[in-house]
Amino acid sequence: MRRRLIACIAAILLSPSVLAGQASAFDIVIRNGRVIDPEAGLDAVRSVGIRNGKIAAVSTAALQGRAVIDARGLVVAPGFIDLHAHGQNDENYRVYAMDGVTTALELEVGVGDIPAFYATHQGTSLINYGASAGHIRARMAVMKDGGIERGTILPLDSAGYNVASEAQLATIRKQIESGLAAGALGVGMGLEYTPAATRHEVLEAFRAAAKYRAPVFVHTRATGIAEPGSSIESYWEVIGASAITGAPVHIVHVNSTSLTATPRTLALIQEARERGLDVTAEAYPYSAGMTELASRLLDKFANGPDSMFAKLMLVSTGERLTRATFAANRTPGAMVILFLNTPDMEALAVTSPLTAIASDGFLANGKGHPRTAGTSGRVLGYYVRETGQLRLVDAIRKLALMPAQRLEKVAPMFRNKGRIKVGADADITVFDPATVADRSTYQQPALPSVGFRHVLVNGVPVVADGVLKDGTYPGRAARGPIRDVTP
Ligand SMILES: [Zn+2]
Repeated sequence: MRRRLIACIAAILLSPSVLAGQASAFDIVIRNGRVIDPEAGLDAVRSVGIRNGKIAAVSTAALQGRAVIDARGLVVAPGFIDLHAHGQNDENYRVYAMDGVTTALELEVGVGDIPAFYATHQGTSLINYGASAGHIRARMAVMKDGGIERGTILPLDSAGYNVASEAQLATIRKQIESGLAAGALGVGMGLEYTPAATRHEVLEAFRAAAKYRAPVFVHTRATGIAEPGSSIESYWEVIGASAITGAPVHIVHVNSTSLTATPRTLALIQEARERGLDVTAEAYPYSAGMTELASRLLDKFANGPDSMFAKLMLVSTGERLTRATFAANRTPGAMVILFLNTPDMEALAVTSPLTAIASDGFLANGKGHPRTAGTSGRVLGYYVRETGQLRLVDAIRKLALMPAQRLEKVAPMFRNKGRIKVGADADITVFDPATVADRSTYQQPALPSVGFRHVLVNGVPVVADGVLKDGTYPGRAARGPIRDVTP
């Protein structure tokens, strides 16, 4: 008994967290929560000590903090990292934070001016932010697309329909490389929105990415309404470009570009990985998508059968479209929800071990897709608790660790995100596994999730006791190193 006691005291005294922690109290201690770290395989009751925005201790000891969060009965997880977050302003950051997201990244469309993006968000952001150098945006600028003047996200005309000249292509590539040199997290592409981009142009964008060891985040090309989503051939195109150039490729929202072909595209990605290719993918947990009605993605509907229009819902009014109202509303800025997928295919994409979870979120004035506010809540509420289709640890892996792993080669700072470990950034999501759920709907897309009790960004609470904090902007730039390279 006595020997056990001595051994026990010795273990406590020698534990590194105690050695580091007793000298002074931590800034914040999250006490006695169920800490889940998918990388280390940790799933146990621990206290987490935070100092200077970093995790300074993960311990079974009773840590002392100037502030204490009682996390008994709650899960303490690494903050979620959303690789596909178009909404990059306070309205969107607020619902992301209420959904457990601590880092929101615009990687698919990306941005045209990387230094300006980071300068705009510095000191004004609730959560961490970052972006890729967007091929679409570069193409729109270089080809003087009408969407630039009209303020659309996606091409309206020339950048969608025209083949780039040699000179234009050289300028597009130069602009992408400038963004990468300025710390962009990768190259963003949306080939369904730029169907005139040739196979050669795709390779050029991948070559630019390869030069910076940066991944390409790509919405694959579509070939027509008869195909289930993008064709398998469109997946070959980008995996082939990755194999040829060496740039890693991340295929965004496999659910919406695969539709009924999801079993085949997931198999193809798995096989490419087994050949040693650096191919990753993501999915969002909804059967409907959303995009700009005036974009090239919708061109196939214009020539398609009448029955297809009822699958489209105008975001501004909630009405289902007809051929006539489709044409009348196809104006710059109008958004449309596309009910094209099935719950079975959605579930296959979401639960596959190959996919990270990413929202593809975007809200404007409270209108948009429910995935913006509800993605993590739906994964943890519906997929984990209600239906048991995902284990909790795997859901956290998909929401936090896999996105960090995707980015840590191009941006080493991501080695300290997506994990609960000493030295990691204190981006932490504390939620109640018994109540966590999404509330947003297609009719009320901005309703925040419930059950996320505490969310910390760089050690600063942005959600406390389930309530969003106003006027705090602890979000920091998530970016790669800035290189002194003239492209
Ligand atoms: Zn997309």
